[in-house]
Amino acid sequence: MSALAEAVIDLGAITSNVRTIASVTDTELMAVVKADAFGHGAVPVARAALCAGAGWLGVTSAAEALALRRAGITAPTLSWLHRPDDDFGKLITAGVDIGVSTTTHLRAVADAAHRLGVPAMVQLKADTGLSRNGAGWNDWPELVGWARKYEREGGVRVRGVWSHLADADIPGSPALARQVAAFEEALGFARSAGLDPDLVHLANSAAALSAPRSRFDLCRIGLALYGVDPFGQAGPGEFGLRAALTLRTTVVNVKRVPAGTGVSYGPEYVTKAPTTLALLPLGYADGVTRAAEGRASVWLGGRRCPIVGRIAMDQCVVDAGELPVTIGDPVVVFGADGGDDAAPTVAEWARWAGTNPHEILTGIGARVARDHLHERTQVS
Ligand SMILES: *Cc1c(COP(=O)(O)O)cnc(C)c1O
Repeated sequence: MSALAEAVIDLGAITSNVRTIASVTDTELMAVVKADAFGHGAVPVARAALCAGAGWLGVTSAAEALALRRAGITAPTLSWLHRPDDDFGKLITAGVDIGVSTTTHLRAVADAAHRLGVPAMVQLKADTGLSRNGAGWNDWPELVGWARKYEREGGVRVRGVWSHLADADIPGSPALARQVAAFEEALGFARSAGLDPDLVHLANSAAALSAPRSRFDLCRIGLALYGVDPFGQAGPGEFGLRAALTLRTTVVNVKRVPAGTGVSYGPEYVTKAPTTLALLPLGYADGVTRAAEGRASVWLGGRRCPIVGRIAMDQCVVDAGELPVTIGDPVVVFGADGGDDAAPTVAEWARWAGTNPHEILTGIGARVARDHLHERTQVS
């Protein structure tokens, strides 16, 4: 082992989460494996999710979709964020569904399909209140009209109609109900214009688990796939999701210091009493974000110990107090279980850093080794 820290990913948790979520939603599931599966490793996570019954994979970009295909994964895949000059021919050839939000993109996709002589599978995205991608109500009729025209000419097949929710993690949100209604309206318009999508989808993890009316044919599952409760619960939450990723390292230096010792740059932290400092070989370049300074702790020696002083790019210091810590002791930055004596969870790190768990997971740096447990290599 030469990396200074490792993210251990239990793919057994991924398969368990797929089954758990499917039993709640009773729909097809799309495993969202964008951003290298939220830092968990897109190819092994995709295989584990498919093996557990997920029917679709979702990614942000053409590059991510093609990387899955290069790994031999042939499962239905949707890619949803593209530059207008992306090489759509590659996606069409690879049999990847293309999420389309503008007529500019639709025209480029249809042109690529025309050149290849192969129809493109597209899924039209409506903006139902998030105001990001997707066609807003003003642009939807035109997008639908062009899609119908291209479909009649044989250049595209509109397989799906879909949208994305703004605040499904707030239970009972009135905005969610408004988005469901707007989506149904957009869908009704598309159908009345002659489109016949097989795959209608709106829900992310939070909606899939809590808002039955948002489920339609398929739910797109990101955070819950990785075992993080989408409602911010620190532990497994009410759904029994299992956190898949544990970020681990080892103590690389230990020193006993007197009161009044400055720690790390600044120093912004000065010891109040004699104590033991343990050095960890990971810092903000590895995902231990400075935004959590002054609040974060790690699991060391059977309990939680605070990270003290400024977190550096490559290192951070833990105040171990009177614990008998030695070089080589294992440390869990965040991991599965939660609880006061256990390792912190991703949800706690997100709270300490004032962000969401997604950003903590995708912030794990490239030099952290990924170690997959229960990996399968055959599923495609
Ligand atoms: C990231 C993403 C998801 C997954 O969201 P979670 O809240 O993590 O489940 C679903 N759909 C789209 C369009 C996304 O970008």
